[in-house]
Amino acid sequence: MTQKFPPLFSRFESLVIHGDARDDGDRKDDDTALSPAIYPSSTYRARSAEEFAEMVSRPRHPRYYARYGNPTQERCERLLARLEGCESAILLASGMAAMTTTLLALVRGGEHIVAQTSHYMGTAKLLGQILPGFGVEVTQVDQTDSNAFAAATRANTKLILVETPSNPTLALTDLAAVAGFARSRGILTLADNTFASPINQQPREFGIDLVLHSATKYLGGHSDLVAGAVCGEKAIIERIWEHAIVFGTNSNAFDAFLLLRGLRTLPLRVKQQSATALHLARFFETHPAVARVHYPELPAHPQHELAQRQMKHGGGVLSIELKGGYAAAQKFVDSLSLAANAVSLGGVETLAVHAASMWEGTLDEEEIARAGVVPSLVRIAAGLENAEDLCADMARALA
Ligand SMILES: *Cc1c(COP(=O)(O)O)cnc(C)c1O
Repeated sequence: MTQKFPPLFSRFESLVIHGDARDDGDRKDDDTALSPAIYPSSTYRARSAEEFAEMVSRPRHPRYYARYGNPTQERCERLLARLEGCESAILLASGMAAMTTTLLALVRGGEHIVAQTSHYMGTAKLLGQILPGFGVEVTQVDQTDSNAFAAATRANTKLILVETPSNPTLALTDLAAVAGFARSRGILTLADNTFASPINQQPREFGIDLVLHSATKYLGGHSDLVAGAVCGEKAIIERIWEHAIVFGTNSNAFDAFLLLRGLRTLPLRVKQQSATALHLARFFETHPAVARVHYPELPAHPQHELAQRQMKHGGGVLSIELKGGYAAAQKFVDSLSLAANAVSLGGVETLAVHAASMWEGTLDEEEIARAGVVPSLVRIAAGLENAEDLCADMARALA
């Protein structure tokens, strides 16, 4: 990392407030406004032929054409890169835009990806149905077995994709083990860090090359934007950008502004949401209607020791299996009043969703079973309501 950014700002609480400043310390772009300017312009005027040549030739010029980027977005990308301890970052239209653009930029037909059996459903569909259509080979392994990743690699393996904790079963991948092996073989690693957020887990610390986020979730944090980010080395991020400008998977100034606004409170929100999720997990653990609780910070989680090694806290999401099966799970989410029955996570409102009903829209039965989604699974994403109020709502709905 070559940033001149003062180490004084390296702690999260300060970083999110000041980390969008340029390397030379200028925090204000063109004026003295504390809050970032929104640049809605689709195009930018060159003041001379010389300047135009510079705009055309410099990769990721923020003032050229809006599909290539914009100044608000550039500011947001600086902060995202620093949050994940990376040289560079790119903001794209959604988490799935980030995933598809990255995989298509880095892997060609005839090459091979090793991934997990449990992934976010959009990623699962990309790996299982779409990439094979482009001649990309994919092997999906049980993420709880670190040796399975090494065993699945071939001579043409280009990339290992991990997601930890995974959606929606909160299974973990040993980041250091996977990254260590991949590095020794010259294979790139990409980690979807959406569930943990940079506050609870920094994949780069364990040697992972690229970190991906659905910024729609914790990074944005207010259920009012859709965006995705990839962070890593400048050269790789530039390659992803070269594909993004052709695919048209760019973000925009308005979402970049909202994301910057959301990021200012990321540490506060995630700390509170993690504490609330732990509180809820403990409550469900002793409840007679609940068969199983999936939450990495619980000592009963089968990978609790790994969670302690690579995560600060378990994050804001947990999932539970109800004793009553499919119908009981639907009835439970139907009966909640404080928590909303809605997809997504990471916002200020607590959300609960019946996973099987949600996954059915995208994946077939076999894929759902492979992802570990049992019929009675309910995913709960803690918001910022009072934890006791949430427990009371859950207890009422379970009764
Ligand atoms: C939501 C999500 C995505 C997709 O992000 P979008 O912003 O909805 O496109 C990818 N990975 C994980 C883990 C997610 O939760």
